[in-house]
Amino acid sequence: MDVLVVGAGPTGLMLANQLVRRGVRTLIIDRHAGPSLETRALGVQARTLEIYSHLGIVDRALELGKRGTGGNIWADGQRRARIALSDAGEMVTPYPFLLILGQDDNERIMGEHLRELGSSVQWSTELVSLTQQADSVAAVLKLADGSHRSVLAACVAGCDGARSVVRESCGIKFAGAPYEHVFFVADTEMTGTMVPDEVNVYLFRDGFHLLFPMRGKDHWRIAGILPPPLRNKADLKFDAVIPSLRNEAGAELSIKSCTWFSTYRIHHRRAMRFRDRRCFLLGDAAHIHSPVGAQGMNTGLQDAYNLAWKLALVVKGHAEAVLLDSYEEERVPVAQALLNGTDRAFRLVVTDNWFAGLLRTKILARLAAFAVNRKAVQKRAFRTVSQTGIRYPKSFLSKSLDGLPDTTPRAGDRFPWLRLKFAADGPVEDLFHKLSDTQFNLILIGQPLLPEYVFNFADDLVCVHAIAKDAANDDELSRAQIPQPSFYLIRPDGHIGLCGTRLETGELITYFAENLYLNTTRAHHVKERAATSG
Ligand SMILES: Cc1cc2nc3c(=O)[nH]c(=O)nc-3n(C[C@H](O)[C@H](O)[C@H](O)COP(=O)(O)OP(=O)(O)OC[C@H]3O[C@@H](n4cnc5c(N)ncnc54)[C@H](O)[C@@H]3O)c2cc1C
Repeated sequence: MDVLVVGAGPTGLMLANQLVRRGVRTLIIDRHAGPSLETRALGVQARTLEIYSHLGIVDRALELGKRGTGGNIWADGQRRARIALSDAGEMVTPYPFLLILGQDDNERIMGEHLRELGSSVQWSTELVSLTQQADSVAAVLKLADGSHRSVLAACVAGCDGARSVVRESCGIKFAGAPYEHVFFVADTEMTGTMVPDEVNVYLFRDGFHLLFPMRGKDHWRIAGILPPPLRNKADLKFDAVIPSLRNEAGAELSIKSCTWFSTYRIHHRRAMRFRDRRCFLLGDAAHIHSPVGAQGMNTGLQDAYNLAWKLALVVKGHAEAVLLDSYEEERVPVAQALLNGTDRAFRLVVTDNWFAGLLRTKILARLAAFAVNRKAVQKRAFRTVSQTGIRYPKSFLSKSLDGLPDTTPRAGDRFPWLRLKFAADGPVEDLFHKLSDTQFNLILIGQPLLPEYVFNFADDLVCVHAIAKDAANDDELSRAQIPQPSFYLIRPDGHIGLCGTRLETGELITYFAENLYLNTTRAHHVKERAATSG
């Protein structure tokens, strides 16, 4: 077996899907008897939908979910601001909204797709221990009947949540602390002042209530902080939080039913390393934080997308193992920034002294009202929350060659979403539909194609797209601040690996051979041929 994926939550399911479709022999296990039926995470961000689109499951997700196109901030019984997500993200992504779709539905869609690919989760199978050897990892699994079985895998992916056995077996510290606050979540049917189909945030002196529209009429997910007197009460029921809800969300609130209520203490923690030799940590096994901003599930899915193409190249012998170092190098800063950001946002909305209360109800609400009229502020906020703004500029895989202006997309950025003509008399097409996410994509703008043999060193590894000279293309490129001539080598996960003005054959070969550690013998052979042919 190539990869043992431990845990079939959203992160493990995404990783298994990505590995299996790349032809990697994968075993995915979970200690539970079947999929979780709890909604838990609700917000699917635009970047995740872009990944779902490549995986072929975005239509199913859009059909089942509800599009949250705006957010409303309430304080002192009045609506203080409305943030239009669709305006802020309109030219950034095909999905300029927050899709409200429960974690259980996301897991079901990914599980079904995995079965369509010919694989499936092995339930009731628990990782008990693992031992790393020079060329493999030996894992002991406990099966449904209580018996134990040993398996060997080239690599192990720890997608096994906050109490990760993979992380503990590797001796990796999970540094951080719990918050003193206790969160509650409730799935309800109710009516009130909420703007339908949009996210509604009620800020008040002692905290906040977040209301997400769910599928079906008058169905709302409420998330908030338990009032301090309720924090340590056992067997708490939804009825206990209704008075505080009524107080803050207004007397108009009429609650008809509650189908799920749960409380949980949240932590902010990060694994000090995301890799120990042949073992990797992803999702909640690597980082946990407050749910403010709906980032948790989405970040795990992106960890998986970042690691999958690299693991596939390495286990299939197309790249050397050093490529895998870039996983930790790229994803640790993302997790750290997320922990810092969610911690700041969380403290702002929960700190319970009088000044913080004033800040929340008076200053924060006014700041939000001011910000909604500033397009640049909205755009920046959308890029951060939707995760389309995640960049890896310091990664050793990111190389921007001289000659490009500073304002242009740079190596490490997610390549922007563009609509372009690929043939002079052809239609305008969505670039993201043209990009392959199981290959590298080379975009050539305002320059001739390279000779065919240049790409022979890496069979089917690079898909070339020449952008036609056309007035509409010129407008679209200048909107994205992409100069002509220029070229962009885009990694399978959509981030720019190499970019520059005019592409020389040697630069491409050197990038693959020396930075991606790909197929070096053949790459050097082609490099020599390029040198002798001038
Ligand atoms: C009540 C609640 C509400 C939440 N609300 C939100 C929200 O609104 N927004 C948001 O972004 N996030 C939210 N979260 C967090 C979100 O659910 C997590 O970020 C997300 O589930 C992480 O996915 P994961 O796949 O990394 O881990 P998990 O979903 O924890 O999956 C880990 C899997 O590994 C399995 N496993 C564990 N140990 C082993 C083992 N030894 N062997 C085999 N299998 C094992 C488990 O059974 C589990 O299925 C919420 C969490 C909770 C608990």
